[in-house]
Amino acid sequence: MIVYKFGGASVKTSKAVIRVSEIIKKSSDDIILVVSAMGKMTNAFEELVSAYYFRNKQIESRLKYIIDFHRSICDELFENFANGSVYHKISFITNKLKKCLTEKPTANYDYEYDKIVAFGELYSSTIVSEYLNSIGLTNTWIDIRLVIKTDDNFREARVNFKISEKLALNNFIENSETHNKAHKIFVTQGFIASTISNNSSTLGREGSDYTAALLGSFLNASKVIVWKDVPGIMSADPKWFKNAEVIHYLSYKEAIELAFYGAKVIHPKTIKPLQNKNLVMEVKSFDSTENSGTLISSETELYEKPIFILKTGQILISIANRDFSFIVENSFSLIFKIFAKNKVKINTMQNSAISFTVCCNYDEIRINSLIQELRKGFKVLYNKDVYLITIRNYTKKILSSMLEGKNILLEQKSRNTAQVVYKEKEKK
Ligand code: ASP
Ligand code: MG
Repeated sequence: MIVYKFGGASVKTSKAVIRVSEIIKKSSDDIILVVSAMGKMTNAFEELVSAYYFRNKQIESRLKYIIDFHRSICDELFENFANGSVYHKISFITNKLKKCLTEKPTANYDYEYDKIVAFGELYSSTIVSEYLNSIGLTNTWIDIRLVIKTDDNFREARVNFKISEKLALNNFIENSETHNKAHKIFVTQGFIASTISNNSSTLGREGSDYTAALLGSFLNASKVIVWKDVPGIMSADPKWFKNAEVIHYLSYKEAIELAFYGAKVIHPKTIKPLQNKNLVMEVKSFDSTENSGTLISSETELYEKPIFILKTGQILISIANRDFSFIVENSFSLIFKIFAKNKVKINTMQNSAISFTVCCNYDEIRINSLIQELRKGFKVLYNKDVYLITIRNYTKKILSSMLEGKNILLEQKSRNTAQVVYKEKEKK
């Protein structure tokens, strides 16, 4: 058994879905296909959630955008779409979604978010599964919410490994209808899951890698392959750095560190399930399947060249006591509590005698509520639209050339990792 994961970019058009089928066709292994929502659909669903929750008028147009997007892909993939079985399945999903949108939202935004955003993966997995069926790649579609069980920490739900493992074996191996087929193919969703009381939950944005790793480890797969629109895990984002290259081998430990610093290639939680079973993960190019990508495994040589991780859309927040007294332990404990409560993750931090500075992702709703709460006890200043760059294996020369002409707001260095928060200088 091999687990294949196709992210949003790998299923963003009808052409991409056809490409997925070509990759599946080439394999004779049993395959579990984990798919994300198509293209940027999760973002579109996020906008729908906000229209729904805040009861604004755009709800209709946002829903229409989502329905039309999937419909046009189906029109391209299926002859006679309007008369086929796929039409009924898609309509069924759409009707369920519409029904959710007519219910009155509860006070819990994150709960509503998971309930609605999950539809992105239901659409995409249904379309992919039906398309494969239509070209003779018979497969079993599985609702992963019956398998991956989580707590109710919505939008960042924690997986119950024990229960989920048992359910995975049940659903994919023991009770599988395709039991005696030579080449078994399952199609399921990444990112989404459900609570013990069967409410939809999600594992955090970009969480499908994590789902793939979980299934691989629960089902003792021989490996997990993550198909991407990049040639593998790169030493930098090629959009920003022209000398970016593929890192061919990574250890679990290095992969965890890169993910921690924000390398977008794999979800930070992905490595643990791999490590539990010593499972290998490959990150490969969807377009040139023969090229070797990145192999993540228990032991490999260290990559010694510089690795650049740039995070955009950051906010730098400085917190101080109102009376200029020292920021000491009890202030810290209160500050961290407020961050945790508002689910704001800290990307880097620094403290001085009288202030504590943190850099985090700018998520408008969470950050506004965080700042409001912090201001009840502290003086808070912030700087929006800043960048955080992390450079592993940095040298002085690289650092100074990278930061030339930038307005540096915070700098932090250990022996091999430098982190800098900066703002582009305004042009006069
Ligand atoms: N569709 C989800 C997202 O865009 C999960 C994923 O792509 O991994 O965040
Ligand atoms: Mg995605």
